[in-house]
Amino acid sequence: MVCLGAGLLLVGATHGPIPPRARNVITPDGLLKHIRMLASDEFEGRGVATPAEEKAVDYIVNACRAMKIEPGNPDGTYIQRVALWGITADGGDVVIKSGDPAFSLAAADYTVSSAQPVAVVRIPDSQIVFVGYGVVAPEYGWDDYKGLDVKGKAVLMLGGDPPVADPKDATKLDPKIFLGPEVSYYGRADTKADIAKSRGATAVITLTNEPAGRFPVRPPGARGGPNRFVVQEPMIVRDASSTDRIAATVALNYEKAVALFAASAFDLNALWDGAASRQFKPVELNAAISGNVRNRVRAVESKNVVAKIVGSDAMLRNEYVIYSAHWDHLGRQGENIFHGASDNASGTAGVLELAHAFSELPKKPKRTILFLWPTAEERGLRGAKYYVQHPLYPLAKTVANINLDYFSNWGWGRTKDFSILGQGMNSLDALVKQAVARQGRVVTGDTDPVEGFYWRSDHVEFAMAGIPSLATSPGIDYVGKPANYGEQRRSEFISTTYHKPTDQVKPDWDLAGAVEDLDVLLEVGYRVAQAPGRPVWTHRPPFMHNLYAGK
Ligand SMILES: [Zn+2]
Repeated sequence: MVCLGAGLLLVGATHGPIPPRARNVITPDGLLKHIRMLASDEFEGRGVATPAEEKAVDYIVNACRAMKIEPGNPDGTYIQRVALWGITADGGDVVIKSGDPAFSLAAADYTVSSAQPVAVVRIPDSQIVFVGYGVVAPEYGWDDYKGLDVKGKAVLMLGGDPPVADPKDATKLDPKIFLGPEVSYYGRADTKADIAKSRGATAVITLTNEPAGRFPVRPPGARGGPNRFVVQEPMIVRDASSTDRIAATVALNYEKAVALFAASAFDLNALWDGAASRQFKPVELNAAISGNVRNRVRAVESKNVVAKIVGSDAMLRNEYVIYSAHWDHLGRQGENIFHGASDNASGTAGVLELAHAFSELPKKPKRTILFLWPTAEERGLRGAKYYVQHPLYPLAKTVANINLDYFSNWGWGRTKDFSILGQGMNSLDALVKQAVARQGRVVTGDTDPVEGFYWRSDHVEFAMAGIPSLATSPGIDYVGKPANYGEQRRSEFISTTYHKPTDQVKPDWDLAGAVEDLDVLLEVGYRVAQAPGRPVWTHRPPFMHNLYAGK
């Protein structure tokens, strides 16, 4: 902080709760040193279960040793072994019989996949039922199934949250239901598939190439860019949870779906419009699907890295605050290294620096702090899921998770704002607001809500395990820059850099803002560690839980 205005902020900051010796540990240079190393060619993009995994894991472990931070696993190591299945889709065949004998499917009309770790998954002959958005959300009085028994049936559903127009402005989504423009828990494909599975459905059918102009309007971006890395081998946790998934998902071409509904004398678009209402009732088609899906499956061994600072309070040291940041990225494909400097060498470095700061406290924090670097986030948050299903310390005694996954704009300088993803769920928000206000900045919610980023990183697994969790993102309003600067850079980043080999440290990176953001997270974790009471949930969606979470 060198400019005149910042002098005032510094005065405020000295009144914060963190002893200066710890706070001053976090510097742009310290961060950049770690990021440069982790994102270098030598680390080959930190692919899971590749030789680069050893390098990344060793780097983090050695950094912890150098800071004299203890191994986090009670077995005396820094490692939690993570057993996964790697699943490579190997095609499949689907037949749909409808009332119209002329209706047929060609291979180009669909894709079929299975998240089960099984070589061949059969879809038995199953009547197709249209279940609208496939949402059951008691808190919103919403049930697309309306009591219909779908056991042994295949459910065809629309993507995303039901788009309910705002009564005050029909061009906008109603903020009172399904979080307005944000993707809610109920809009996630996994949530819908789990609901379908729990009701005995044999398969989920979704639509591809949906026509433009329907809510939610999504910018071309992270999910769809032409050069976007395709994860060729998704992974799942290798335990009981892995087989308890919907057997098959069929993605059906939109035009074929229109024809399929027409064969049962239904108009898909009229039903689609009607599905955005609580009054929607499921529709049974005169059609049935059957087929099989093939997977190539291999057992994958990977590692979470974990370190700890044992608390100083005789009682509270048996409670835990977890800082986390996934170490893995997309690895390499042929000559292309996916360096992942932002995603997530920066978060990995951030947790190392937070650990460093905690290690410099004159007196250890009251609660125990765990520093966790989960694996396989890029394969579906698997290292974090594995942790909550096989916790090293009781989840019931784990009071908070603070997750760092800085996939974007950390290198672009200081911001006037600081963003909380999934704002309004728990009392950690209030601590963030106080720390941010101390810096003279403001808290915003998700600054890019249609992307659904809240659901796309490891804190979600902790939240589903019942632990109040915090996901934040750098701000978008840059100090000394025009108002639209942040938006512009971010959309440029998403199209040219996110999940691409170009996610590298750039010569113009300025990590002064990153240090301010880390100061906020340091203060939040420290205050959680020191407070007599635990953080609490203020709003937790009823279905938001992991059935397999440990205790
Ligand atoms: Zn990523």
